[in-house]
Amino acid sequence: MVPLPPIRDDLETRPADDGTLVIEDPITGHRTHLGPQSAAVWRARAAGADSPLALCAAASELAPGVVRERLMQIRDALLLDDARFRAQRGLFGRAEAPMVDRILLDPDLRHRCVRCGSSCLGVDIGPISDRTLDAVRDHRLWAGTPDAESAAETVQRRITEQGPVRVFTHVDGACVMLRGGDRCAVHAAAGEAAKPAGCRQFPYTFTATPAGVAVGLQFECRSLIESAAAGRAEPVSERAAALRRIVADGAAVSRLPDPVTVGPGLFVPAARYLKWWAAVARVERLAEAVPSAIALVEARAAELGPEPAWLEPGAWPGPPSPPPDIAALRDALPSQIMGACAWLTRDAAGRRDLVEQEQAELVRKALLVQTGAVRLPPTVFTPTGGADPWRVALRGALADHRVVLGIDLLQGLGRLQVWLALGRAVARLRAAQVSRRPVRAQDAIDGLLVAHRILRTGVVDQTLRACHAAVRAALPGLPPGPGPHWLGVPAPGLSAGGRVGVS
Ligand code: SF4
Repeated sequence: MVPLPPIRDDLETRPADDGTLVIEDPITGHRTHLGPQSAAVWRARAAGADSPLALCAAASELAPGVVRERLMQIRDALLLDDARFRAQRGLFGRAEAPMVDRILLDPDLRHRCVRCGSSCLGVDIGPISDRTLDAVRDHRLWAGTPDAESAAETVQRRITEQGPVRVFTHVDGACVMLRGGDRCAVHAAAGEAAKPAGCRQFPYTFTATPAGVAVGLQFECRSLIESAAAGRAEPVSERAAALRRIVADGAAVSRLPDPVTVGPGLFVPAARYLKWWAAVARVERLAEAVPSAIALVEARAAELGPEPAWLEPGAWPGPPSPPPDIAALRDALPSQIMGACAWLTRDAAGRRDLVEQEQAELVRKALLVQTGAVRLPPTVFTPTGGADPWRVALRGALADHRVVLGIDLLQGLGRLQVWLALGRAVARLRAAQVSRRPVRAQDAIDGLLVAHRILRTGVVDQTLRACHAAVRAALPGLPPGPGPHWLGVPAPGLSAGGRVGVS
């Protein structure tokens, strides 16, 4: 009999409303949500099932292959008292304090708003600070807006993951403070510093690291060509000083984790990740960054030693599940995203959100093009002249370390690949929609922007999280065939084309 490692005895376990489990880890500081299947395996192990045979018997509602895979995921979350946890526990609780008064700005990512007004449309603007609301009150900025007769009537409450926040109301889908289609009333009346922090920061993103605040770009600016040109005309020092003020005034700043997760259950000190990052931060194509990322993951796995005997497929009852196949996973992902987009299109239609409905449908159709299920007339990507949207997209996403914020490195890079490839397909579709052969810079910007938005939307984001193994398999340059352990555990039924939910 192959013994199974015990569950760690220092964890806080509590049931969630839906009968699943939430695990709080005092060592890693992580909160892990165990879905129904993982919760069943957890309870069976906690009840004393200490061998694969006993565990499968105790969780008999699940197929043995699923029991093994769920326990593997519990292991990757460092929740078992095994060699992998013991070898990595010392990495936690040693994070260096971030340096927040130094701005790390890639000169190619300079951006200066050209006030086209587009970022003031169709999104909740907030949180609205007392300073901004005071400016609205002091300058009577509600005057002339429909339905508002006071400053308080220009804002509304929104419940977010961080709790209730104040956001500006909308007039015809635009921020209530937008005047004449492109002028911010707050800025005009009280100056840039009185604007909501999110508006001052847009489209920059900030991640605090031991070396300073790393500056990235979220791909939301519709006037990227003009705003990048305006940004390049500004000295780097001036832009950095302006960003330092915005950070000091309370902008949203993420924090680089330490350690960093590079693959399922594989953690490295932030310094080691930053060494890898420094070598790839200015690559021209994502494919150039992938081999060294995989080398980092494989080196880490080798340092942690061979997989334990209990993970051997032969140690489990029933036919061993074949190792995940890279090509099968990669091919399964688009249909999962299409399914999520179809759901989103219907949901948006029900909410009469025509813009989101159109964008979700556009992405779904672009996936048909990307998979070759539908063919488009020939198109050609034309040189952009000025900022290359693909390059800005790649650099902007690498610069702020979002590839490791709340996600492991290989999944983060996989998501980047999914986004860039989808952005390309949407750009082609936009040109084809008007029977144009040349795919222009604005098509590229629109394509990347729409893909960026839809991939981050609730149901689509959840689908990508559930399909994490397929997202890693999307990495460019991976050879087809059986996948290495760092692909992770594919969601049940994924390769068979079943609809993947969050389990
Ligand atoms: S506050 Fe001003 S900059 Fe911000 S969204 Fe509203 S109009 Fe645009």
